[in-house]
Amino acid sequence: MILANKGQSVVPDISFIGGTALTLNKTNDIIENAQIDILHGRIVSIKSVSKPTQLLAKKIIDASGCLVMPGLINGHTHTGMTLLRGIADDLPLHNWLNDKIFPLEKKWVSKDFVYLGNLLAQLEMIRSGTTIFNDMYYFEAAAAQAVQESGLRAICGQTLVEISGVEDTQKIFAQFDQYLEAIAHFPRVLPAIAPHSIYGVSDPVWEKITQYASERSLRVHLHLQETKSEVEDCQKKRNMTPTEFFEKVGLFRNKTIVAHAVCMEEKDISILSKYQVGVIHNPESNLKLGSLIAPVVKMRDAGVSIGLGTDGTASNNNLDLLEEADTALKLQIFQTGVGKLKALDVVRMLTLEGAKALKLDHEIGSLEVGKSADLIAVNTEFPHAVPLYDPFSHLAYSASGRDVKHSVVGGSVLMENGKVLTLDEKAILQEAKQWGRRIASGIS
Ligand SMILES: [Zn+2]
Repeated sequence: MILANKGQSVVPDISFIGGTALTLNKTNDIIENAQIDILHGRIVSIKSVSKPTQLLAKKIIDASGCLVMPGLINGHTHTGMTLLRGIADDLPLHNWLNDKIFPLEKKWVSKDFVYLGNLLAQLEMIRSGTTIFNDMYYFEAAAAQAVQESGLRAICGQTLVEISGVEDTQKIFAQFDQYLEAIAHFPRVLPAIAPHSIYGVSDPVWEKITQYASERSLRVHLHLQETKSEVEDCQKKRNMTPTEFFEKVGLFRNKTIVAHAVCMEEKDISILSKYQVGVIHNPESNLKLGSLIAPVVKMRDAGVSIGLGTDGTASNNNLDLLEEADTALKLQIFQTGVGKLKALDVVRMLTLEGAKALKLDHEIGSLEVGKSADLIAVNTEFPHAVPLYDPFSHLAYSASGRDVKHSVVGGSVLMENGKVLTLDEKAILQEAKQWGRRIASGIS
């Protein structure tokens, strides 16, 4: 099947050849023996060929035995905290956060900590097929610097936590202005403001955030209704749910992305649908911290776009989105019965639907002519991939991030044949291990 190849005469920069392309377009076209041509960072042609026709491409990537698909979208991360992977397990969210994570962050988080944590996280993400992540943390300019080096894309959301009232508001927004300026020159980074949660920011500041984001067309990224107690506390204090509160202050008139949405009433879901708020489901983090199961099927039925996220490595503990898809699917089967959410659905949540949740579906999320060339090749030459009747079933239930062989973002090759080309893997691992030893010893 030829999707587009009209009048093409220029030599592509890259041609992917030999794989099975999962376009994840509207009709989920699957193209056997696919040749995907890339020029100036964009997909210019996708077609099935008995033998490659564009061997003149400046670079040929052999994807034989692979599923070639849009890069995976990690909709909710805290990449800066990757050096805290595995440091506090087996605790419920409240104790995990207040007794372990917040004190550790207070002691260790710095620009250097976030930069190295990002290099480590981005290395892991490239290896496991992620091509864009939506982040929320401190020192996000350091995260953006790492993005510049790794070749990935990111929405870098500088966290805003403000629990002491409004006295420092001016300072907070002045710092935010500086942050926006600092990351403005990174071409693959989009800025966001990331107020932590309903309990992390005081009510008057929510109004200011709403206005600030609206004046600058900024994305807003926050945690929403992750636990029952978060909703109950808000009901007691404001006589409404956090979702109702955010509607009241006008926050959702901005491009808003909410992580979790676990404890949702019907009225909350209607509000998210009404404002097309993007929801990011983080099943492994929710399970690990004992936060119940998000009503993914219900929200999708109501027209809410849902992407998948890993959350930070301290609550997962890896950044493997294919594992996340497997968990998401089985959780919904457990909650709603078999067949309400299917393998293809979770693969779409990792790609086009995830892009829609981030308001980027015009650029990424599917293999279509004109879209940015952000794609990966997942190797199926493994025992766990044989036989392969349905590629979506394979990706959702059997594959893992370790199977990813090639990765390209915006036409630049980040990984080829399992080797990351943009980062010095050995040096990053060595430095991260040193940090780990320092953190474990407690001596800063
Ligand atoms: Zn989170």
